[in-house]
Amino acid sequence: MLIKDLFKQKRMVFSFEIFPPKLTSPIETVYKTIEELAVLNPDYISVTYGAGGSVNNNRTCELSSLVKNKYGIEALAHLTCINSSEDKINKIVENLNKNNIKNILALRGDVNGEENGSDRYNYAFELIKHLRDKGNLCLGAACYPEGHVQSDNLDNDILYLKNKVDAGADFLVSQLFFDNNLYYNFLDKAASKNINIPIQAGIMPVTNKKQIERIASLSGAYLPQKFIKIMDKYEHNKEALRDAGIAYAVEQIVDLVSSGVSGIHLYTMNNPYVAKKITNSIESLINHINEEAI
Ligand code: FAD
Repeated sequence: MLIKDLFKQKRMVFSFEIFPPKLTSPIETVYKTIEELAVLNPDYISVTYGAGGSVNNNRTCELSSLVKNKYGIEALAHLTCINSSEDKINKIVENLNKNNIKNILALRGDVNGEENGSDRYNYAFELIKHLRDKGNLCLGAACYPEGHVQSDNLDNDILYLKNKVDAGADFLVSQLFFDNNLYYNFLDKAASKNINIPIQAGIMPVTNKKQIERIASLSGAYLPQKFIKIMDKYEHNKEALRDAGIAYAVEQIVDLVSSGVSGIHLYTMNNPYVAKKITNSIESLINHINEEAI
């Protein structure tokens, strides 16, 4: 099924994200993760694409195919365009098509100070335009509730986001955030620019201190005092920190779901234990929302 049709059928779409293992680890290391996530019955599972447009591109297709064709769960394959030629993109899409994958999250990828090795693609909207012409694909794109780290400000970033929607994106998935008010502010601003496609809130349960520091530097996400207090308090107790991270994510999701967002995309970090805890805590809420008539 195309993910855009899921949004038509359901008030609330609930999905997971996983990443392929590094090339130095066998791909099988993630098979058990997928098996355990599949039991939780998400609406779809997305599979990330190697940073910089490199490494594990085939793994994205292989794992998306497993999700779709072995477990019968809809798959969303991430695809970045930096450092890629049109020919390379076409081959990847062909391979996805052969594996019955029709949902693609079309991204630029991180340039990270290096030169973009592509003379065809500089921004995600160009990839979206290219893929849109291929027909019969469902295209997602990324959005940033606090603005993308490289953008001057949120308003400009939203203008560029509108380009992606006009180029043919069917739905949006957000960058992680820890302050729901910033997300609501972003939704208002997006609506005021006529961005009317479904937007899914990206939620990352933070379960270790190293992860927080990495996230803060990479995404520039605002860390509310309440969040910092919890993380500082339990930083030396692995179990307590994990449980506090799960509780914080659940609280965020309860508020988002009750406020009528279109969906939640859970960054599982390939951790089925955490995904299971969160899913079990919010399942009845999501079912309740989805039982209401559209
Ligand atoms: P774009 O939409 O092209 O935006 C990039 C920057 O350029 C922004 O600052 C934007 O404001 C600016 N911009 C856009 N258009 C223009 C224009 N015409 N002129 C000037 N400036 C412009 N990365 C991976 O490598 N693999 C993944 O699997 C992956 N999955 C992700 C999933 C989600 C949900 C999210 C939110 C991000 C993901 N990323 C992934 C990270 C993403 O690749 C980076 O954030 C990247 O830097 C931006 O990608 P984009 O598609 O949002 O780019």
